[in-house]
Amino acid sequence: MPDWLSVAIVFVYGSIVGSFLNVLIWRLPRDESVVRPPSHCTVCGYTLRAWDNIPLISWLIYRGRCRNCGARISSRYFWIELFTGLLWIAVWYRFGWSLEFFQYAAVISALIAVFAIDLEHYIIPDQLWIFMAAVGFLAEGIGLALGWKSYPWNDLLYLTVPFTGGWELPVPHALLGFVVYGGAVLLVGILGEIGFKKEAMGGGDVKLAAAIGANIGATWGIVSFLIGAAIGTVIGIPLIVLGKRERMDYIPFGPMLVVGAIVMIFFGRQVVNWWLGYAGLR
Ligand SMILES: [Zn+2]
Repeated sequence: MPDWLSVAIVFVYGSIVGSFLNVLIWRLPRDESVVRPPSHCTVCGYTLRAWDNIPLISWLIYRGRCRNCGARISSRYFWIELFTGLLWIAVWYRFGWSLEFFQYAAVISALIAVFAIDLEHYIIPDQLWIFMAAVGFLAEGIGLALGWKSYPWNDLLYLTVPFTGGWELPVPHALLGFVVYGGAVLLVGILGEIGFKKEAMGGGDVKLAAAIGANIGATWGIVSFLIGAAIGTVIGIPLIVLGKRERMDYIPFGPMLVVGAIVMIFFGRQVVNWWLGYAGLR
């Protein structure tokens, strides 16, 4: 298949998924069913026909307005569709047609929804982290069984059991990543609560971190946390200075975990190699 065709296919499907993410971003935090009723204008209730619901194109043709009543439709619908399509292209360029492509296209899509929902509503819906964790375990299971997976690992991890004279216990990376990264964020949350006498990180952040760990593993998970925290600090300080946010604790942590995870999905090897080189360990 020529590259341009792959890119076109990936973009079309990515923007369709982006269109579905818009539904999730609106409905999940409102506890509405994601399948019923079909997409409709939230002002007049007009049910979108198939041709009203073409990703990107419909929004542009109707200039971000409801076809029936003319109510404004947020440009977020357009940007989420575009951004999801573009990120899917990036995943394809990084991984080609592979198990990793399907895994990370799915995970990054869910991360986009988490980002948008947590930023606005300060919650991380269970459906999203459970979906991501399931994708991580499934991808590792399929990858190990069929030998299809090479990123970021291609075999089981063997942990030496203490006091047994060198017994090695095979552990899936996804499981270790789930437990260790989730546990690390839980620990940071507890320490933050002791230190600031205030909830620093919610249970949603712990579950999100665990689900990310199931897809990128324990070590990369921790590194993604540091990257996310660094980016969050760089963005958060100007927001506080400009008076857009009062204090650091009103900035939800989920979006930072999302950004850190996406950086590691694309650049994990480079980041770790750079780090080891910097520390003189390579
Ligand atoms: Zn309307």
